[in-house]
Amino acid sequence: MNTLDHIAAQLQGYDPQALSASAVNEFLAHLVVPVQETESVDMFAALGRVLSDDVISPVSVPPHDNSAMDGYAFAGAQLGASALRLNVVGTALAGKAWQGQVKPGECVRIMTGAIMPAGLDTVVPQELAKVEVEVEGEHITIPPGLLSAGDNRRLAGEDVHAGRAALQKGERLMPAALGLMASLGIPRVQVLRRLKVAYFSTGDEILSLGEAPREGAVFDSNRYTVFGLLTRLGCEVIDLGVVKDQPALLKAAFERGAREADAIITSGGVSVGEADFTKTMMKELGDVAFWRIAMRPGRPMAVGRIGKSVLFGLPGNPVAVMVTFLAFVRPALLQMMGARAKPLPLLKARSTEAIRKKPGRTEYQRGTVSTVDGQLQVCTTGNQGSGVLSSMVQGNGLIVLHHHQGNVAVGDEVDVMMFEGMV
Ligand code: AMP
Ligand code: MG
Repeated sequence: MNTLDHIAAQLQGYDPQALSASAVNEFLAHLVVPVQETESVDMFAALGRVLSDDVISPVSVPPHDNSAMDGYAFAGAQLGASALRLNVVGTALAGKAWQGQVKPGECVRIMTGAIMPAGLDTVVPQELAKVEVEVEGEHITIPPGLLSAGDNRRLAGEDVHAGRAALQKGERLMPAALGLMASLGIPRVQVLRRLKVAYFSTGDEILSLGEAPREGAVFDSNRYTVFGLLTRLGCEVIDLGVVKDQPALLKAAFERGAREADAIITSGGVSVGEADFTKTMMKELGDVAFWRIAMRPGRPMAVGRIGKSVLFGLPGNPVAVMVTFLAFVRPALLQMMGARAKPLPLLKARSTEAIRKKPGRTEYQRGTVSTVDGQLQVCTTGNQGSGVLSSMVQGNGLIVLHHHQGNVAVGDEVDVMMFEGMV
């Protein structure tokens, strides 16, 4: 296992007092290790889980060439410069194939999804075929120039090929992946075990819900945002409550987290000059680095290991907790879950306002992205205080003002990390 000193030695220009956001991601990528244990789950239990192995398809989907339209199937080689007249000799339905042989000059009425009769490769949609019913039978006429050979036919295996990986190890199973596996007839799937994450809030001024308000105290919000973020990520959560600033209580919480969880997330108590015992206890129980990150919001952060658990000691301010979670903790947890890295996508949007920004730190401003005349634009949510949690509810993305970036002028393009619906 990499010690923190080891990791630090591998990183160029590592400075715990002025760490760039990208250096934080890099450090964490070295620190965390994916879970190994796997279990088998049925399709309904697989949502949000991470594949431990490639899913090799036992079948091709679709299993046969079939029609993409309701119409008439025929051999496309007969198409030419003049209209093509064909006798209708039978019907192929989805689930009921036409078994006969079709000769030149003949076609088969076919429905969407029906297997293409032997030797036929093209379907004329019914609305393009002129149908005539006569005593000797039904004919269609296909006007010239509308179709090419092979049109409106779905090829066997065009979705998934038998024997190939339909999904790859590390795929986080979203609704489409569940459906895809079901389309292969796979009833159960092997996934990595769920990541267990313990969390608690620290600070003598933090009230649990239900406690009587008192002057100078605030209700705990971080445990609820962290609970929500972890649950949506598919982690198993262990809620250790609000832990008061007493060494014995902090020790017990850290030890329980280290015993039961793969990761421990705390909030509060890691600022420089913080007068409480959180940092002391982290130092005493684990291998922990205390960082000042060149970012806003969320400058202080503690990171390391307590026992086998990875520690993420987040700042106390509610917006800083969410921002550091999205920027740093989420990618690290996904790596621990064994998921292939898929960072939140950055959209480019035009800023409707000027934003002041100092080069030399990364800023994450809460913004609202909307589409105006087909163009993405973004405005800030106003007060960007790191305690203004309503800004995270109001906004739908974080305007990411990168490390070297300076002031933004009206109309400038900025990157936005969307979080609404994504986390
Ligand atoms: P700290 O990092 O402990 O200095 O906390 C910074 C600010 O965040 C202080 O104003 C705290 O009261 C506030 N804070 C810390 N933890 C929480 C929490 N769990 N819920 C809401 N606010 C918090
Ligand atoms: Mg505090």
